Amino acid sequence: MTASCPVCASRETADLDEGFDAPVLMNRLYANPAEARAAPRGHLAFAGCRACGFVWNRAFEPEKIVYDGDYENDQTHSPAFAAHVEDRARDVIAGAHDGIPIDFLEVGCGQGGFIATVARIAGGRLRGAEGFDPAWRGADGEGPAGSRIHKCYLDKHTASRLALAPNVVASRHTIEHIPDPPAFLRTIRQALGTQSRANLFIETPCAEWILERGAVQDFFYEHCSIFTARSLALALRNAGFASPHVTHVFGGQYLWARAGGSHADEAADVGPAPPLSITNVRRAFLARWRDDLAGRAANGPVALWGAGAKGVNFALLADPAGRAIDCVIDVNPAKQGKYLAGSGLPVVAPAAAATRKPASIYVMNPNYLGEIRAQAAQAGLAADLIPIN
Ligand SMILES: [Zn+2]
Repeated sequence: MTASCPVCASRETADLDEGFDAPVLMNRLYANPAEARAAPRGHLAFAGCRACGFVWNRAFEPEKIVYDGDYENDQTHSPAFAAHVEDRARDVIAGAHDGIPIDFLEVGCGQGGFIATVARIAGGRLRGAEGFDPAWRGADGEGPAGSRIHKCYLDKHTASRLALAPNVVASRHTIEHIPDPPAFLRTIRQALGTQSRANLFIETPCAEWILERGAVQDFFYEHCSIFTARSLALALRNAGFASPHVTHVFGGQYLWARAGGSHADEAADVGPAPPLSITNVRRAFLARWRDDLAGRAANGPVALWGAGAKGVNFALLADPAGRAIDCVIDVNPAKQGKYLAGSGLPVVAPAAAATRKPASIYVMNPNYLGEIRAQAAQAGLAADLIPIN
C-alpha cells in the first residue's frame, strides 16, 4: 500500500511501476570501468498522487546520497543550455521589484555558475549574492563575482550565516533531490523572515513531460521528488509563498515557478493525473531501443551523446550487458577520460570519438540536436544522429 501524498496529503495515490535498480549518483564519474560498474545502486519505486500529480520514489534512502566535490553536473558547455540559464537569470533579475538593488540568494548553487550569470547580467544592480551548497568546491564563504557561498545545506541552523536580507531567491534543479520538499520550502520561507516579500524562483523537471513521453530514462535515484505544475504550486502555497505561478521552460522539460512576491494571484496550471502504471511504458521503451540498438550495432560502432543522467540510464536500459554501445561523447572536459556509472562506458571528446568511427549516435536530449549536429560535423563524425524522445 502506498502512503498519502507528501505534498497534498491525498490518499488517492498509486504505485507507478514494478521498480528497478540504478546507480545512486548519475553525475558521478569514475576513473576506470571496474569502479564505474561497481557504482553504488539504489532502488527506484515511484508512486504518484492522483489529486495533485506529484511523483516520488517511495524506496528512496537519503543516506545513500552524498553530494561532495566529485559531483559534476555542469551543463553550461552547451550553448543551448547556456542560453536557457541566461533567460532564467533575466527572470530572476526582473523578479526583484522594479529597479531596486538586488540582494540575491541561491539555494543549491553548485559551483556558483548561476550566481555568476546573474551578476554579469545584473551588473551594478546586484548589491550582494549568497549561495548554499555542500558540493561547493571553493573556500567556505567565498564565491564568484564577490558572492559568498556557504559549503552546507540551508537549514534552520545554517540560515544564521546569511549576511544579507535577500529580495530575490532562486533554487534551480535542487528540490527534486529533496525527500521532503514541503519542509525544504518552509525552511526557505523561515530563513527569509515573515516580513520578506522576496520572490522565490524554482526550476525542476516536469513530471508531465516525462510521463507523457514515456521517458523512463528520466527517472533517476537522485530525483526522489518530481513535480507537476499543479503539485509545485500547491507546495509553494502550503509553505507560505503567495501567488505561485508555474510555467514550462526548456522545451517543456522543466517547470519554472515564481512565488512569494506581490503579483496578483494567478491560477496554477492543472496538470493531468499521472497514469496508474509506467510498467508497460518501460517494456515498450526497452523493446524499441534494444531492437534498434541491435540493428545499428550490426552496421558499425554505436555511441551515445551526453554523459549526464539520461545517458547513464539509457545505457543501462538499452544495453544491460554493456556490449552493444562503444562510447559516450560529451563536450564537458571534466567528464572526458572518465567512465559512466553502471555501464562503465568511456566518456570521450567529439574529436576522440571520431577515431572510433561510430556509424550511429544516440542523442540523449533532443534540445541539443542542432548544436550536436554542428559539433559532430566539426569533429569529422559522419554518424547518423538519433534523438531519444
Ligand atoms: Zn498530491
